[in-house]
Amino acid sequence: MRMLMNNLDPEVAEHPDELVVYGGTGKAARNWSSFDAMVRTLRTLKDDETMLVQSGKPVGVMQTHEWAPRVLLANSNLVGDWANWEEFRRLEALGLTMYGQMTAGSWIYIGTQGILQGTYETFAAVAAKKFGDTLAGTITLTAGLGGMGGAQPLAVTMNGGVAICVDCDERSIDRRVEHRYLDVKADSLDHALQLAVAARDKREPLSIGVLGNAAVLVPQLLAMDAPIDIVTDQTSAHDPLAYLPIGVDFHDMKQLAKDKPAEFTQRARESMAKHVEAMVGFQDKGAEVFDYGNSIRGEAQLAGYARAFDFPGFVPAYIRPLFCEGKGPFRWAALSGEASDIAKTDQAILDLFPENESLARWIKLAGERVRFQGLPARICWLGYGERHLAGERFNAMVADGTLAAPIVIGRDHLDCGSVASPYRETEAMADGSDAIADWPLLNAMVNVASGASWVSIHHGGGVGMGRSIHASQVTVADGTALAGEKVRRVLTNDPGMGVIRHVDAGYDRADEIAEERGVRIPMRES
Ligand code: NAD
Repeated sequence: MRMLMNNLDPEVAEHPDELVVYGGTGKAARNWSSFDAMVRTLRTLKDDETMLVQSGKPVGVMQTHEWAPRVLLANSNLVGDWANWEEFRRLEALGLTMYGQMTAGSWIYIGTQGILQGTYETFAAVAAKKFGDTLAGTITLTAGLGGMGGAQPLAVTMNGGVAICVDCDERSIDRRVEHRYLDVKADSLDHALQLAVAARDKREPLSIGVLGNAAVLVPQLLAMDAPIDIVTDQTSAHDPLAYLPIGVDFHDMKQLAKDKPAEFTQRARESMAKHVEAMVGFQDKGAEVFDYGNSIRGEAQLAGYARAFDFPGFVPAYIRPLFCEGKGPFRWAALSGEASDIAKTDQAILDLFPENESLARWIKLAGERVRFQGLPARICWLGYGERHLAGERFNAMVADGTLAAPIVIGRDHLDCGSVASPYRETEAMADGSDAIADWPLLNAMVNVASGASWVSIHHGGGVGMGRSIHASQVTVADGTALAGEKVRRVLTNDPGMGVIRHVDAGYDRADEIAEERGVRIPMRES
């Protein structure tokens, strides 16, 4: 209940009044009466009962048992042939479904920090691949400063680089400045470029927000021959009704999308084609270019742009080796609301994994630079054989009173073994199994069987309808022995799914991890 409420805390959610948490239209509850009914039910739910939630609406309470999840959720799922935006919106308008995004409908969104660490890791991987382990002396161009995209400027500056970030909504820019994710707002594109070049020449980190439409400004920068080294994008391109088309005033966007969705979609896709064409243009000039998981290539292709997939998605380019180790976005929140609880868990992570330098660098930077939104929370990427150690330690710290209240432990759906998403997490799998969606379903079932506190299965998420199926688990460490057992099993088996997923797809690194850390693979046993 605290996490449902936290998702909708005005400090956390992008549009709390509409129950929208992040990612265009990602919601935590279908409507306010559903929200009220869920809170009412959760207040009285017994230890052997489970509330069922169908796309943001509570539909039943069943007697289960104390190892069973207290809540089971299914969000935005549609049968294959019907899994498109048009049908989804028809059903949404009838009040029958809602868009759950990833952590919006599964109540484990922790604000922009949630994506910050993954974004930091991605830019660190870009630096390692091409720029000698630092982004100092480079300029990154991106767009989208929303709930997720807002992490980009800070992730770039944490890696020493300069970032120019375009957004068409001044509020998004101002909010990131206020939260210290973005350093400055430029007056114009020329001003942004001047500031960027000056900082780059001094090898100083700086992030610059600039107001405008990326479909206009990115091609403009290309035409100006701007010295850009890295290009990506995190506008809400996965949902063509959330991407501002060229020629539409930002203030008219919502109304036009509502009144003329088909025309708006067409215009948005054509604009995305222009945007992607410019990104390919930068790649042709030697820049490092990647899709940041928002389906902009797929939308540009739908508009007829033939070279849309000329640049890769960020997972095959930088993240897959981590997935082979069961590594992914482990996160936790302090139900006490006390920042000091997170400081203590930060120290616990440093004590548990003293040999992991990049983890230590992240925890230190996060402690200094991340401003909490809503309940104090932390994220860091941990792998198979690591996550459960952290979970057990947190549970022990709740038990002995070191922490003031229980810790909620979950993760993003963008994890090693919990997603089928051919444009993102499972793009270009070694065995071609990109679209096989049995894995996230097995992941959800394993988490239910292992004792997670709430488990969900979603469709759509960050890449849009018809393009992904993914699962989530969240487990509460309340300091009891039972919670300790649940945490150990869930946080072993959940990343274990990532290892077996990648063993099955033929990745040698996953084989090594399975061998080294004792993950059983029946087809390898005699
Ligand atoms: P959001 O809706 O909170 O923010 C999107 C931002 O894009 C808004 O500020 C909006 O004003 C801006 N925008 C829309 N059209 C624009 C245009 N033409 N020019 C400039 N700005 C424009 O969304 P979010 O939560 O930040 O997510 C952004 C995208 O990233 C989504 O598609 C989401 O699904 C995807 N995503 C990626 C990851 C990842 O790991 N890479 C994770 C989650 C979500």
